[in-house]
Order: sequence, then C-alpha cells, then structure tokens
Amino acid sequence: MAAARLEVYLTADVEPDCPPYLWTWRGIEEGMPKLLDLFDAESVLGTFFVTGDTAEHYPGCVADIAARGHEVGCHGFSHQSFATFDEARARSEIVRTNEILRAFAPVTSFRAPYLTLPEKFLPLLAADGIRTDSSRGRYKWKQAASTSAPGVARLAASIPPSVLRLPALVRNPWLAMLRGPVVLFVHPWEFVDLTRAAIPLDCRFRTGEPALHDLRDTIRWFRDAGASFRRVADYRPPA
Ligand SMILES: [Zn+2]
Repeated sequence: MAAARLEVYLTADVEPDCPPYLWTWRGIEEGMPKLLDLFDAESVLGTFFVTGDTAEHYPGCVADIAARGHEVGCHGFSHQSFATFDEARARSEIVRTNEILRAFAPVTSFRAPYLTLPEKFLPLLAADGIRTDSSRGRYKWKQAASTSAPGVARLAASIPPSVLRLPALVRNPWLAMLRGPVVLFVHPWEFVDLTRAAIPLDCRFRTGEPALHDLRDTIRWFRDAGASFRRVADYRPPA
C-alpha cells in the first residue's frame, strides 16, 4: 500500500436518528457536539452531508460545521429514498436543500440517503452545481455499474459505518485492506447510546462513547499509516 499517499475522506451524514426507524434528534443535539469536538481535537477536517430538514430544525448546527472549517454537503431534504422519487421530486429535494445550505457555505458535494441514487438523477446534481457524488458504496456488490454525468465525479463510500464500531482486533485488519481513496462515513446518532433502542443490531451495537473512541482510534490509525485527510470538495478523479 502506498501509505504516504493514501487519501482518507471522513464524512458524516447529518440527519434525524437512525432513519427510517426513529426520526428523533438526539444525534444532532447530543452526538454532533462530540463529533465536532473530536475532529477539532484530532485536527482533521471532514465533509458533513446535511439534510434540508435538519438544517431547517437546527441552523446553528450547520453554522457550527462551516465555522469549524468543514465542508457542508447535501443529503437531500427529507431523508426519503431517491428510489421512490419522480424527477420533479428528486430535483426539488436537491435544489431546496442546496438553497438552504448555501446560506452557510458553498455546496458542491452530494450523498443520497441510504446510498441510493438512481443513475438517471445524476444530471440533476450537475445542473444544481454539484461536482462530486458520494452516493455509492464500494461494499454494495449488487449496485448497478457506476455511470457518470458530465461534471459529476463519483467518490464511493468504502465501508458501512458499523465496521468502524467493531473491536480494534477486527477493525484494523479490515482498514488495512481498504484501497484509496478511502471514504468513511458515520452519523451523529451513532455517538448517542442507542444500544437499547428498537433498531437493527448493526445500527445500535457499541453506539455512544465506544463509537466515539473507535472513531478516534480509526483516525489515529490512518494518520499513523501516513494518510492525508481530505474533504470531498478536494477530490479530483484520476485523469
Ligand atoms: Zn442518511
């Protein structure tokens, strides 16, 4: 592995708690401050994909993300799946959310909820100033082949968030196998103790403080491996 040149993108999807199961806001109220403080403490900048709904409920949260130097990206408005939208609805989720978020920061990156974006909607992103789409998961083997739209680069997520909450003994060998660019993603609600919530096991195990410690250790593991931490807006696809 060319460790010295490994690019790592730390990303977070800023949204209600564990959709489509909870829809509460503990992650924003309790988890986000911890996540932002962790990034500050580790001196890393990340990309935060925010839903329009979240930005309307918690404008101070978006302002805080931008003020700390992180990138603000678009995560749709309602956190409904784009697979259920017609073109008009898809366009309005993108345009409406970008309009809200651009009051705080430039927005050029997008991630669809549930990492589900029908390829036919890519031109809608390009038309509204999105340059990089992170709606695919490299671990989602059943996804259709990635296509491209003029002006929109694709930067796929490397692993599901739950991998980052596995014990280090399992997690670190997994991280060592990832090829760059490495795109990690978490959610603010993972840093709230949801271990007793009525949500699937992979969503709730080791949430709360353990998740925060695990993420800190992951950041340090990549730093020790010589990685450079980038924001999605800084991504340039290979020529
Ligand atoms: Zn999401």
